[in-house]
Amino acid sequence: MYELVPPQGRPTSVQQLVDFILWQAIRAKASDLHYGLVSHTGPGGLTYMLRHRVFGKLQPVRSEFIGQQHKEVLARLKVLAALPSTDVNAPQDAQIKVNTPEGPMVLRLSIIPNPEGEEVVIRFQRAQKIPQTAQLGMTPEMLQGITGLTRQRSGLIIVNGPAGCGKTTTIYALLNSLANAETKILTAEDPIELRLPFVSHTAIGRGTSFAQLSKAFMRQDADIIFIGEVRDAESAETAVQLAQTGHLVFTTLHTRDALGVIPRLEAFGIHPNFIASTLVGSLAQRLVPRLCAKCRVPAVIDEATAGLLKKILPPPAGTRLFGPGPGCAECNGGHTGRLGVYELLSVTPEISDLINRKAPQKELLSAARANRMLTLGQEALIRVYAGHVDYKAVSGLLGGEGG
Ligand SMILES: [Zn+2]
Repeated sequence: MYELVPPQGRPTSVQQLVDFILWQAIRAKASDLHYGLVSHTGPGGLTYMLRHRVFGKLQPVRSEFIGQQHKEVLARLKVLAALPSTDVNAPQDAQIKVNTPEGPMVLRLSIIPNPEGEEVVIRFQRAQKIPQTAQLGMTPEMLQGITGLTRQRSGLIIVNGPAGCGKTTTIYALLNSLANAETKILTAEDPIELRLPFVSHTAIGRGTSFAQLSKAFMRQDADIIFIGEVRDAESAETAVQLAQTGHLVFTTLHTRDALGVIPRLEAFGIHPNFIASTLVGSLAQRLVPRLCAKCRVPAVIDEATAGLLKKILPPPAGTRLFGPGPGCAECNGGHTGRLGVYELLSVTPEISDLINRKAPQKELLSAARANRMLTLGQEALIRVYAGHVDYKAVSGLLGGEGG
């Protein structure tokens, strides 16, 4: 384990410089550090750049060292990663375990050769904390709604949304709230992202099919099962079968919204009758940038936009909208992390009946809304009106709604 000591003041050696570069990235909460050539034609010839990926966005880091010391920095990183320093013509992967003032973490290095030298990308894998439902950023109503559904003894709960929207984190938090000595919880994941107490994690892939796993899970006398992702007919059938046989099953799907899971399951060959009888709830989720409360600035919107927002969800009297500020010591360019926005479809007997009858989405949506479901757009606007989110950051969720 390498002990990373942030240098005090200016680095005076390559060793200190590398520690400084790594610490700068860790402190900026970067998920990745990129270091390599970005231009062949700058005034000084070759231009190297250090960049951080923070909350999904790649951004340059101001640094006066990076050009001339590129080779030395690469060499030092290779020493830390125990890679041969002489090999500069082949891609290389390695990892460095480090102890930092922010706790232990693993740095995954990927080095590729280019004609002028080498480029490195370092991914920072921080020791993960077990997520808690209270930290998911749900409104109290949403948290109450979803935890209510998890008290069912059997059925299917699907968390959906695009890749990287925090679906697995949400399910881990829900499983963690249900895990105890009296409950048997099994998972089938690819890969296993985190280990929870009182949960038996199983890795799928590597020759284990869903069908095999499903058979084994039946004999494992489980109460709750998490199937990492429904991505084809086989995994869909497995999830539904397990949900039909007395298990509460959690899984994830890539769909646009909560209702989108119904046509998706149908497309995977699941009969509407089976969807109607097993689906308990569908939770759509997005992560949106959270405004820094210290430096946010009032946002000015035109009347047409105000009218559109009002149509989706009328703002409370006296609501003021905010946009990102210039950035301050408390934040990263005007934002402090990301906030979850959710849409929960609870399957009532009425909705179950509509699914069974293959009712059009429009009909399902009005039934869900009559049952007090707030859409992703409405949930996003609650955050916008509370001053936590810039309305521009959620414009993708506001289309095609109203009334
Ligand atoms: Zn700020």
